[in-house]
Amino acid sequence: MDASARLRDLPSVDQLLKSEAIVGAVERFGRPVVVNVLRKSLAEIRNRARDGRAIPPRAMIVKEVLSQLETSAQSTLRPLFNLTGTVLHTNLGRALLADTAIEAATAAMREAVALEFDLESGTRGERDDHLRALICELTGAEDATIVNNNAAAVLLALNSLARGRDAIVSRGELIEIGGAFRMPDIMERSGVRLVEVGTTNRTHAKDYRGAIGPDTGLILKVHRSNYRIEGFTKEIGARELATIAQDADIPLVNDLGSGTLADLNRFGLAHEPTVREAVNEGADIVTFSGDKLLGGPQAGFIVGRKALIEQINCNPMKRALRVDKIRLAALEATLRLYRDPERLAKNLPTMRFLARPQAEIAAQARRLAPVLERLLEGAFDVSVVACASQVGSGALPLATIPSMGLALTPHADGGRALADLAAALRSLPKPVVGRLERGSLVLDLRCLADEEGFAANLGHLEMGSAGGIADEPS
Ligand SMILES: *Cc1c(COP(=O)(O)O)cnc(C)c1O
Repeated sequence: MDASARLRDLPSVDQLLKSEAIVGAVERFGRPVVVNVLRKSLAEIRNRARDGRAIPPRAMIVKEVLSQLETSAQSTLRPLFNLTGTVLHTNLGRALLADTAIEAATAAMREAVALEFDLESGTRGERDDHLRALICELTGAEDATIVNNNAAAVLLALNSLARGRDAIVSRGELIEIGGAFRMPDIMERSGVRLVEVGTTNRTHAKDYRGAIGPDTGLILKVHRSNYRIEGFTKEIGARELATIAQDADIPLVNDLGSGTLADLNRFGLAHEPTVREAVNEGADIVTFSGDKLLGGPQAGFIVGRKALIEQINCNPMKRALRVDKIRLAALEATLRLYRDPERLAKNLPTMRFLARPQAEIAAQARRLAPVLERLLEGAFDVSVVACASQVGSGALPLATIPSMGLALTPHADGGRALADLAAALRSLPKPVVGRLERGSLVLDLRCLADEEGFAANLGHLEMGSAGGIADEPS
């Protein structure tokens, strides 16, 4: 049969639109999308027929179209189980918000709010006003402003305070946080002239003092975040740096990165500089993130001296970097939780996960091990193992938190089997993301809150791909 003969059997878009399943699809997905997918599918079949391939039966065409519609209706920003052991995983969206923050954000989405409106006087208000007093109370700073993220906070602070002038920074602090944030690049784009002082491992007070001149706009101190210099090192602390800056009558900007508003020792973690400490040490401006240890939505805080914050707020870039009412509402509710440090671990998911006792996680691992054993049908060894979580997002980079998890180790065909299992877990209705570690897939359970949902979700594990592993010759 030649191609044109075969194509005569191909149903038209209109014919397919009349089939019961497609009528149902139009109901669900809307007519334009369905017509679009039908057209594309038929065009593809036509092309293949010209290459001598057979026309699939009508039922198969419909089935394929429905499956494509199903896939395209699914959000790609899918909720998932973060079992990587990294609590603040940048690629997985960092902090999970507190219930009160979610409620506040939802209310702000549904209704008009007094965002820039002073209810008392009935005149125009300022959006930063909602958080200013609270931030100042929690950090001891004179004033504060909020922008899109901490990268924006650094950009805006540098641009406002030292555009066209020198910004002095230690060579040991010219960090890269991730491809998109490299301190030298941000500094260049902010319009300041980068003046590097010291060496990678050692920077002295005299290096800073020697670099200060008539063109100096500020001194910048940067939290090293995701790496540490060890051995023969020397660093000038923020307090001494503040004196140097003060003597020269220039501001000191301290970029804390994550920063924290709480004493982490309280939650069994190592010390991370608090914003209050940074303010007390004499920095004129301190910048930090909203969605790292603070546990809120993405945001950047700039806190410090009133005159400088005013200068920052006058910068036209502030408008381009400001946050919307949804995030302001969530931030306000998140910050309020810090007024009650005793209950922070209960109310703030980030702190709850970080402070979760290993014994509790171990009990959870023991409950879930048999569920996975059943599902993996002897293709994998499932064992309860001790593992190490980390904070993530550059906070406490070298500190690990003792945790517990499930190690899934293939009996045969190691690498391939592991990759297939990881893929099968990722294609669950609610994807599960673990961590590959020395020949096993480890599911660190520190961040698993919904145990029941997790177990039910596993019931959908398609052994088609994962089970194929067992069938593979070793
Ligand atoms: C994470 C980090 C930033 C960037 O913060 P975002 O909120 O991710 O924009 C800037 N500086 C330091 C030191 C950091 O650790």
